[in-house]
Amino acid sequence: MTITGTKVRKPKYHAYNLHNYLEIPQVKKLPPEYREAIEIVGNVLPFKTNNYVIDHLIDWKRVPDDPMFVLTFPQKDMLTPGPFDEMAHALTQPRETIRATANRIRLTLNPHPAGQLDHNVPLFNGERLHGMQHKYRETILFFPGNGQTCHAYCSFCFRWPQFVGMHDLKFASRESQKLIEYLQAHPEINDVLFTGGDPMIMKVNHLKEYIEPLLNSNLPSLKRIRIGTKALSYWPYRFFQDDDSKELLKLFRSVTKAGKHLAIMAHFNHPVELSTPAVRRAIKALRGVGAEIRTQSPILRNINDDADAWATMWNEQVNLGCIPYYMFVVRDTGAQHFFGISLVKAWQLFRDAYQRVSGLSRTVRGPSLSTNPGKVQILGVSEIRGEKAITMRFLQGRNPDWVQRPFFAKYDEQATWLNELRPFDGEKFFFEDELERFYRENLNTPTSEDFE
Ligand code: SF4
Repeated sequence: MTITGTKVRKPKYHAYNLHNYLEIPQVKKLPPEYREAIEIVGNVLPFKTNNYVIDHLIDWKRVPDDPMFVLTFPQKDMLTPGPFDEMAHALTQPRETIRATANRIRLTLNPHPAGQLDHNVPLFNGERLHGMQHKYRETILFFPGNGQTCHAYCSFCFRWPQFVGMHDLKFASRESQKLIEYLQAHPEINDVLFTGGDPMIMKVNHLKEYIEPLLNSNLPSLKRIRIGTKALSYWPYRFFQDDDSKELLKLFRSVTKAGKHLAIMAHFNHPVELSTPAVRRAIKALRGVGAEIRTQSPILRNINDDADAWATMWNEQVNLGCIPYYMFVVRDTGAQHFFGISLVKAWQLFRDAYQRVSGLSRTVRGPSLSTNPGKVQILGVSEIRGEKAITMRFLQGRNPDWVQRPFFAKYDEQATWLNELRPFDGEKFFFEDELERFYRENLNTPTSEDFE
């Protein structure tokens, strides 16, 4: 690459984790207690960052409060005091004790929320297709075996068990042939969503192994290929400057040329992620091959619980040609006590931000909870017979008939998840009996965790 005759070196990806983070010059200057917290919490929750995040996204003058620092570096309060002290003590013990303590703590952090591990794995010809999830009629999720890591890890990630070596809790598949057979047998599926980890971590040759068979098989019902990724934020060079970027764009072009909609489900948590020349160039490159970029993020205390940040994000996304898509409520897993905010507060922030943007940004939906029965949107606080109520609806449901039916819960300012809400009238929400029947008929018996 040459700029006005001067050679500029290509940025080369360099990952940092617990083994080498002390080499980061900015980290060396941090007070010792921050480094100690990284060490202790980083032994329980996943930790990985990279040179782009460090040099372009984190404002080191604002550390420890900088949102991108909080997003990618473990913080003391991400563990409650008991487990923090337990882990601190374990670090003085042999390796086996460290591992056992970390795993014990991890299991208390609800590693697989919303029944992901069992309830959505499809059964096909008597075989469970691990590495796939079919929860909503039209969409199947596929977890490519080579895409189960990311360019950096988000400290709130609900897929965190996949990154900390808890292999029993990992789902991934290398079997694109099984995916094709399943799609052929299920013409109601129109969308395949590649997810991870981050599928964009894969070299193009691996990605081709999954995408090309979809294009070359006879799958008239497959209309849309979606790729869930945070690479635009964590390593935007992936789309224009990595060794195989050109080939990658060619592959994406082949999807749109084949008449399939290519949707990049881009994950942005903070406006700063949209501010660098590299992300802007990457967005342009993707749009140039006909991809649509839809954006999503959870609302996170200590990172983006601020209406201004959301309004800025949505506006900037529209300016860059992206489509604001979802504001999620952070899942009840990992360090939820650190990131979680109440449903009522999330709705107030959503509303506040939504009121500040033009109609073009109002494609966004939220705040939305990905629960076991479906995607539930908090519509707001209303009054019924003189009593406050929380109004919700399904944006997606295990039963498509549940979608768009308003339903009500007793007002609760503290609740952070659906299972903490009580129906406004009666003992159960309208979908609960059917959900229980679903578990009985399809899979194992429901647990108290299932109604999340
Ligand atoms: S990029 Fe996505 S999958 Fe990877 S750590 Fe962040 S939230 Fe999790």
